Amino acid sequence: MKIVWQLERATVRDVYEELLKRRKASGHFTGDAELFFASVMEAVRAGKPTTRIMETYDGRALRVIDQPVAGGGWVAAFEDITEQRRVERERDRNRHFLELIIENVPATIFVKQASDRRYVLVNRAGEKFWGMPRAEIIGKTSSEVFPNSEAKLIAARDDELLQSGQPAFTEREISTPSGVKRTIASRRLIIHDEDGKSKYLLGVVEDITEQKQAAARIAHLAHYDALTDLPNRVLLRERLEHEVTYAGRGAQLAVLYLDLDHFKGINDTLGHSPGDALLKAVAGQLQSCLRPSDMIARLGGDEFAVVQAPLDHPTDAATLAQRLREAVTQTSYDLDGHQVVIDLSIGIALFPTDGTDVDQLLKSADMALYGAKSDGRGTFHYFQPEMDARMKKRRTLEVDLRKALAGHQFELHYQPILDLRTDGIACCEALLRWHHPERGLISPADFIPVAEETGLIIPIGEWVLRQACADAAKWRNDIKVAVNLSPAQFRNQALLQVVIGSLAASGLSPGRLELEITESVLLQKNDKTLEMLHELRGMGVRIAMDDFGTGYSSLSYLRSFPFDKIKIDQSFIRDLLSSSDSPKIVESVIRLARSLNMAVTAEGVELKQQLDVLREMDCTEMQGFLFSTPRPVEEILPLVAEKPVNARRSA
Ligand code: C2E
Ligand code: MG
Ligand code: MG
Repeated sequence: MKIVWQLERATVRDVYEELLKRRKASGHFTGDAELFFASVMEAVRAGKPTTRIMETYDGRALRVIDQPVAGGGWVAAFEDITEQRRVERERDRNRHFLELIIENVPATIFVKQASDRRYVLVNRAGEKFWGMPRAEIIGKTSSEVFPNSEAKLIAARDDELLQSGQPAFTEREISTPSGVKRTIASRRLIIHDEDGKSKYLLGVVEDITEQKQAAARIAHLAHYDALTDLPNRVLLRERLEHEVTYAGRGAQLAVLYLDLDHFKGINDTLGHSPGDALLKAVAGQLQSCLRPSDMIARLGGDEFAVVQAPLDHPTDAATLAQRLREAVTQTSYDLDGHQVVIDLSIGIALFPTDGTDVDQLLKSADMALYGAKSDGRGTFHYFQPEMDARMKKRRTLEVDLRKALAGHQFELHYQPILDLRTDGIACCEALLRWHHPERGLISPADFIPVAEETGLIIPIGEWVLRQACADAAKWRNDIKVAVNLSPAQFRNQALLQVVIGSLAASGLSPGRLELEITESVLLQKNDKTLEMLHELRGMGVRIAMDDFGTGYSSLSYLRSFPFDKIKIDQSFIRDLLSSSDSPKIVESVIRLARSLNMAVTAEGVELKQQLDVLREMDCTEMQGFLFSTPRPVEEILPLVAEKPVNARRSA
């Protein structure tokens, strides 16, 4: 819009002044009217064009250009610049906003001039990361800021970026100007000018050192055992997968499964932290026996696995197994002042004979280990194909055993034990029988070990105790009942309550209950077990040592507890008539028992001649087929009922 003030100067002055006054009065002019008027007059007097910005009462902005004209007037051009100003302000705000973001992002941001590669911008994170204020960076090149080798790398990357024109992403380790090594992820790109020429290099650098370390830690934990820092099951599988996949023709390898014997006992007795210390020490010991190409992993608990690869000959696995056992057995481990000696059971499976895939191989090794353990531990076993069938059979047995108690498939048979001084029945031993619905009668020797391993022995043992006490309560009151107890039952604190409960429920006097234990109960060297035995004996219950002579140090166990009776194992009675050492051993056991005031039972007497020898030796009791096999309760009843039947007649 143009207004032409083409008037006499005085008139102009008057009219213009008057106009301003009115605008001021009506509120349409907000400034100092007189001052404004004076400034306008000054400009007119000078005769030069002037420009000013005028704010209107309704908030618009006008640019006024006054152009003096000949004759004392001027042309005022009004331009509405409201929108233009709004855009400018908006731009300023945006710029501030972006600066705020750049300044506050946790990633380093820098900009370099493409022409001379001097830094023109570095944000706060950059100052921190590079360890110097931006004043020392801006205006400089990389070579003036970074160590020499680093600067060279940067220059090469910049060249690359400028040549390709493509955004670049790198992840690498760098040395910061302050000499610290960090891992970075950087993204760099070019900013072009209007002509499409490279103007700036923009870099965004993220410090991912901690992130990388955390990721590495997580990856380590996923593949290594936290306690021993040995590879875990996952890594073992990966290694085996690799070996099996890339095995060349004729290549062999061995997988050894290792299990520490009686570790659970040590852990239970000494506590978990000595247990952990033992595992760590053993892990170190085992590892020291291996070649760099072999691998050891901890599978969990006290189980380890070794991959022996390559394997020249199958017997090399046995050599290694032996070496591993020696390394462990020859060390005396000091655990909180306790000297512990430990042995290993080892199962060996060979590739490709015992399995061509990892699952089969591991399964075979596990079965071989089971074989070693059931062979009395402290030994190694190669996998044998029969093991697989045996294992399957065992698993079905376990499933069936779980149903047996509820299915009333158990029964107690009783075998009388004869007092050789009176020739009357002193006691009847309760022997468990399992009537399997399909397989018929199963021997306790076959299912008791499975019951022990699975813990089923606890409810089964409880049933035996209750049933035996209930049966015996109906017998003549000078006849005792003997019940066999497993080591596993002593690991259960409730055993004492079960015995007390069985006696109370049946009304049987404690003196008529005899508990038969084997050395393996005392093998645990657990104070709790001895405490329980003493408590039972204190109640009047009799304790007998069963299968005497079959263990390693039977005599020393005799000293650890005041047994009421020793039962000489049937293997000695079988050899009694031969010219072996057995007669001498039996005789000295009988003498020893007498001197300790213990009764002594000869087990498994089948022949009249054996009985004659035993009588000669002054043995106090006998048990065996010669007198009676174990019989169902109703068959035994006539022998033990209130009205005595002549015992000898039934022999
Ligand atoms: P054990 O306690 O030594 O029982 C004696 C075993 O010898 C019985 O075998 C019995 O039948 C057998 N026997 C007795 N006289 C003769 C003989 O003259 N000749 C021969 N060859 N054998 C004879 P059984 O009943 O098969 O029991 C085997 C083992 O199973 C028992 O050995 C005992 O250790 C265990 N057992 C049996 N019942 C139970 C039970 O209720 N609980 C526990 N924990 N174990 C039990
Ligand atoms: Mg027995
Ligand atoms: Mg026995």
